[in-house]
Amino acid sequence: MRFVNVEQKTATAFAFTTWYSTLWTRIAIPSFVSQVMGGMKFHANASLPYECFGFIVRKGGAVYTIPMPITASSNHFYVDPNVLAQTLYGFDHAAVSILSTYHSHPGGTETLTDADLPLTSWSPTHVLIARTITDWTLHVFKWGA
Ligand SMILES: [Zn+2]
Repeated sequence: MRFVNVEQKTATAFAFTTWYSTLWTRIAIPSFVSQVMGGMKFHANASLPYECFGFIVRKGGAVYTIPMPITASSNHFYVDPNVLAQTLYGFDHAAVSILSTYHSHPGGTETLTDADLPLTSWSPTHVLIARTITDWTLHVFKWGA
């Protein structure tokens, strides 16, 4: 994700490796993620060779993926702030709660990159979908140490 913001600018003021490692913790796959695994893999496949991005949300008792329209390459993506704002207002209006964000790494990188850092403020957890030779593997992160 290419998105210059305050977090990235202030990063240089810290000892980078120490600061970087406290931003997220890898966690086991929660059940709400398992419920929408197929949908996220479908989205990731449909977006090849580019990255994909979306939300995992809860409405009532059901969990859904919300694939987002983005501008993407094979290793970056960009979300139009106007599209994001409209989406978030829509969620709020419809009493939809955000459980997680997700995005894909078609190149197979299994860790988040510094370009992914702005996502820390968008949801409590993040699902990275990394491509393997035959499928995708899911890596779930909780923000914070
Ligand atoms: Zn990424």
